[in-house]
Amino acid sequence: MKPSVRLLHAFVFGLGALWALPNTLLGLLLGLPALAFGARLRLGEGALVFVRYPWGPGVALALGNTILCKDPSLDGRCITYAERHGLAPRSGATLRLGDHERAHVLQAMALGPFFLPLYFLCGGISARNRFEQAADRYGLTGRGWWPWARGVP
Ligand SMILES: [Zn+2]
Repeated sequence: MKPSVRLLHAFVFGLGALWALPNTLLGLLLGLPALAFGARLRLGEGALVFVRYPWGPGVALALGNTILCKDPSLDGRCITYAERHGLAPRSGATLRLGDHERAHVLQAMALGPFFLPLYFLCGGISARNRFEQAADRYGLTGRGWWPWARGVP
C-alpha cells in the first residue's frame, strides 16, 4: 500500500475513532475494572479487546472501539443469529466471532453517538435487528457491514 493511502486510512480511522469515542468510553468504563477480575487486554478488529471478560450475557459486545469478550480470543467460530434463533435453516456455515464484532466496530465508527440509539430502535439484541444481520453477513462474506447496505448477499 502506498504511504499516502496508508496515511489516508489512518486519518479516516482516527476520525471514526473520535466519532465513536462516547461509546468507546462506555466500553472502557465496563472493561477496565474487569482487568482486576481476570480479563486481559488485546488489540484487534480495530478495537481494544477485553478477552476473558467475566460479566454479562452473551459471548461478546462491541462498544465503539472496544470489544468485551468472554472467550479467551475472538477466533472462535459461531453460527449466525438467524440460525441460532431458528429464523434460518442450518446451513453448516460458521463465522469467526471477531469478524462479526469488527462489523459492529465499523458500524459504531460510522454512526458515532447515534450507534446505540439506532441499534436499539432496530430491535436491540435480536436476530431481526439489521445491525446483527449486517454483522453476520460481514462475518460470512467480508462484505456488507453497513446495516442499510443494498445489493449485498
Ligand atoms: Zn452482534
